Amino acid sequence: MKISHHKLSLVLLDFEGEQLATEECDLRHPVSSPEDLAAKIGEAVARLAGQIGRAPGEISGLGIGIAGIVEANDGFVHWSPSLSARNIEFGALLTRTLGVPCFIDNDANLVAVAEHAFGLGREHSDFLVVTIESGVGLGMVIGGALYRGTRGCGAEFGHTKVQLNGALCRCGQRGCLEAYVADYALLREATLVSGQDANADPAKRVETLLDAARAGDATARSIVERAGQIFAMGLANLVNIFDPELIILAGEQMQFDHLYSDAVIEAMRKSIVQVDKAPPEVVVHKWGDLMWARGAAAYALDKVSELALERLGENAA
Ligand SMILES: [Zn+2]
Repeated sequence: MKISHHKLSLVLLDFEGEQLATEECDLRHPVSSPEDLAAKIGEAVARLAGQIGRAPGEISGLGIGIAGIVEANDGFVHWSPSLSARNIEFGALLTRTLGVPCFIDNDANLVAVAEHAFGLGREHSDFLVVTIESGVGLGMVIGGALYRGTRGCGAEFGHTKVQLNGALCRCGQRGCLEAYVADYALLREATLVSGQDANADPAKRVETLLDAARAGDATARSIVERAGQIFAMGLANLVNIFDPELIILAGEQMQFDHLYSDAVIEAMRKSIVQVDKAPPEVVVHKWGDLMWARGAAAYALDKVSELALERLGENAA
């Protein structure tokens, strides 16, 4: 399952990786209490299992990708834009609520798992996946393995600082990359563009802003171009630190095309350390939410196998 801002996306796989069913449901509120979100997830999983005439309890494991700072080892969510509370043992809460082992990780990590398992990263041992949705995420595959950091706080590309005392970010700090390139950052500035109604639907307002930029509105263009320049600077910093073979820009929504543009990638190339070798390849990979969910399912398959091996070991002892 992928938990995104406005919906839950689920795929049901068997142990061969064969897709048996999919389910998507809208979330009325982008931010919920952990208990409310767990209940919603329980309902969605029951509908998913019901599609093939099964009970939810027959599911061996549920992998979940969520935005935020997640300690995957123990399912602990330090912070997530989807949850109204911090420091939640969300994996344990879900496992209790659903009666199914639940494995939770940062969503960008699970996209990196998916790219490595069956996407553009299959042939690569060192690559980065940058995800652009309502926030900016990063998954790092180093030496063939996902790198998570030690406290679940690694790969917070969206919260690397690009400006001293800069714009306020939803994480509570100032000057984060996300506070300049995410949709909510664009919206904050969009109210300055003529004809923008601050009470209108946020997705519509972003669209209006991007349309105005394409149509040549100077204010709108400067907002969008600035987001692109800051994003390019962030990418160049990643290249200068990691020197990856490949950077995959993964997103779903066409609305972020201004961040995937040739101008942005060219600006990045100009800001990386120059050597007599080709710069890292940058590719755009537009996944649907269900493909992100497949990454979560691939993670669950791994974890369920691990659990089974542990149980075998316990029984043998
Ligand atoms: Zn931040």
